[in-house]
Amino acid sequence: MADAGEPVPAFKDRLVFDDAAGELRDGARRYLLLRPDALMAMFRLLPPDTRALTLGALEQAVHQQGSDSARAYLAHSGGDVEMLLTIIERTSPQLGWGTWRFEADGDRLRLEVRNSPFAHAFGLSEQPVCHAVKGMLRGLADLWLGRPAQSSELQCSAQHHATCTFEARAA
Ligand SMILES: [Zn+2]
Repeated sequence: MADAGEPVPAFKDRLVFDDAAGELRDGARRYLLLRPDALMAMFRLLPPDTRALTLGALEQAVHQQGSDSARAYLAHSGGDVEMLLTIIERTSPQLGWGTWRFEADGDRLRLEVRNSPFAHAFGLSEQPVCHAVKGMLRGLADLWLGRPAQSSELQCSAQHHATCTFEARAA
């Protein structure tokens, strides 16, 4: 284990509500409170082909931004990726992204999410809808594997499963 140095304060303790500027920030990173039903209704309103494309774009966008955030956490945790995963498990509930549990399985990184806001807000779906989580997992798996990863949502609570389960492996 690398020396973690100063413990990373919890996300909810780092978050700054700057009323004068009309901003919520974690360091330089700006956050937005948006009801998940507003976000997911947008996808539901789109025709299926377009919905699949835009959910894919959300996955890519979160992968990009999530990787930036993850690298910032990693710098704080002395480059210890295992500690990074622990920090993400602690942070996800504070972001309102459900409760996350990572499990390493050989060269695969598995993730179980309970109470995903994306699935909850979307409602029943034939296809998984937690593309934001999938993108975040891919960014974390890039760091965990030390090379580009791919990720998939194996089952989603929007499909009537109790939890959402994901898997990432080398691309
Ligand atoms: Zn899901």
